[in-house]
Order: sequence, then C-alpha cells, then structure tokens
Amino acid sequence: MTIAFTTTIPQEYIWAAGLTPLDLNNYFITGDSRHFIGNGEQMGMPRSTCSWIKGILGAMQEEALTSKLQAIIAVTEGDCSNNHGLISLFKYYLPHLEIIHFSYPADKNPERLKLELSKLQSYFGVSDEKLVVTKSRLDQVRQKVNRYDYLQYTKLNAAAKVTQNILVSTSDFDGNYEKFEENVVANINLLENTPTGHPSLRLGYCGVPTIISDLFTYLESFPAKVIFFEVEKDFSMPTIESTVLEQYLAFRYPYDIYSRIHYINEQILERKLDGIIYYAQAFCHRQIDSFLIQKLVKAPVLILEGDAPGALDMRTKIRLESYIERLL
Ligand code: SF4
Repeated sequence: MTIAFTTTIPQEYIWAAGLTPLDLNNYFITGDSRHFIGNGEQMGMPRSTCSWIKGILGAMQEEALTSKLQAIIAVTEGDCSNNHGLISLFKYYLPHLEIIHFSYPADKNPERLKLELSKLQSYFGVSDEKLVVTKSRLDQVRQKVNRYDYLQYTKLNAAAKVTQNILVSTSDFDGNYEKFEENVVANINLLENTPTGHPSLRLGYCGVPTIISDLFTYLESFPAKVIFFEVEKDFSMPTIESTVLEQYLAFRYPYDIYSRIHYINEQILERKLDGIIYYAQAFCHRQIDSFLIQKLVKAPVLILEGDAPGALDMRTKIRLESYIERLL
C-alpha cells in the first residue's frame, strides 16, 4: 500500500514499514495537472488558491490513486499555510482514509521534532534497528544524487530539467529507490563521459519547484546553464546526517528563511553563480519571502511568478531575456 504526503517528510519510516511513499506534489505535476486543478475547484477550493493545493485535492478524484492509499501524512506546521483547509476537505471527500498529522516545529526544537518522529515510528510500528538500516540504504542513494549534482555543476553540461527532476524526485524516490538509483548512476556515467561545457552564465534557481514546464529549457536556449536548485537540493538531504532526527533538523525548507538565504549565498560562491531566479507561486504565502531574498541574496535576483501549469507566457519570456542580457 501507499502512503501519500503533502511535502517532504521523513520517508524512512514508510520504507522501513514495507510501504511505498508518494509525494502528492510529484503526482500532481507529472499527471494531468490542469484537469486536477479543475477538479480541485469543483471540490470546493477557491479559485484564488495556489494551483498546487487545488491540484493535490483534485487528484483525489482519481480512483487509480485513492484505491492504493492507506493514509496521507499532512504537514500542519513548517509547510503550507493552506494545509489545514486541505486536510478538512480530504476528510470530507475521503472519510475512509487515515490522516496522519506531522509538524516541523517552527523553532526547530529537537525535543518537539523528536516527539513528532516518535508518532510516525509508532504509527508505522518500525523498530529502531530497522530504521537505521533503512536510512543507511536511502543514504547510499542520496550520496549518488550528491555525486550527480557535483558533476552537473562542475561539468556544466547536463540539462537543467534532468537535474531538477532528479533532485525533486528524492522526496519519494519515485516509489522505487532501486530503480531511481539506477537512473542516477546512468546519469553520472553520462556526465563523466561528457566534455565540460562553457556557458557564459551560471544561474541558480530558488523558491518552490516551478509549475512552468519550459522555464529551464528556455533559459538554456541562451548561453546560460542553471546549475543550482535550492529547494530541490534541500529535499535530497545533501548533508546526510547520522540519525533521522539530525537529518530532519538539517532540512532547511520547513524552518526559517534566513538559513535558506545563508545556504543560497554559500552556493553562489561555491558554484560561482552569476544570478539567481527566485520563483514564487501565485497565491502562496511564501511570496512574502521575495522581499528578503531581494535584499539579502548576494547576486542579481529576478523574481518570477507562475500560476497555472503550462509554458512560459510572452511577458515572462521578455523579462527573462532582459535579465540575461543584463547579466551577459
Ligand atoms: S506553492 Fe505555496 S501555497 Fe502552494 S502548496 Fe506550496 S507552499 Fe502551499
């Protein structure tokens, strides 16, 4: 059976229990997203709600999805301010499904996070030993993802879309970490045997994963490479800590914006980035962070906003073009 969730959570417990994780964001964006959004609106989500939230709710009309779900882990602190409303609608439409509440304490208090983790451990009935073994196996995959990421930003020759896809998929390893690992290894081999590229510009991408389908291919139609994906990289748990508790304390996304900005600035130096594109989703509370990103990030920032899934509109293309011209 499958355990779905609304953002990156400690998936170790799900694998250790012999179940399959499913990040509903990945399901939404790789499926018939526009249709899911339409469903979500019909199911009660106001039109002026973020498309991801509408789409995640709307996806629940898919029998193929709901028939395999055992429970949904809903993150009620440290993720989306809309999640409380989303959970209420889940309960209305899917009364048979169990909703497991999980929180990342805003103050990053280790004792509070420990308590949240112990709730997951007891729900899944997983022993400490099994958890250690599972984490260690997933960490082997994460190490390979780190290797791939290092190669892509030093070789400067991978398609940004491929890199973004690998990193964002680490939240559930596409439901099969062995197959996922094989794909990462194939991409490592490919990059190792590829000559180094020489783009004129090195760009970073920050903010929530974009809903715009051709953003990276458009950017790379210029002499530019996107070689840093802030939130996606965070999902991949790059620091590989020794315990689950330490791992999810090192995760930046659910906590404060300042540690994220600090990391972005480190990576600007490490990856020699010429500019940062900060993406904000329409109707998302995280848009408020744009102000601090513009003030505190130490590279020229372009703030982009997207709403519905689909290709870039002409106005955004022109903004991107003038940003690139300014940097060249
Ligand atoms: S983009 Fe913002 S509003 Fe939409 S689901 Fe993510 S956190 Fe929530």
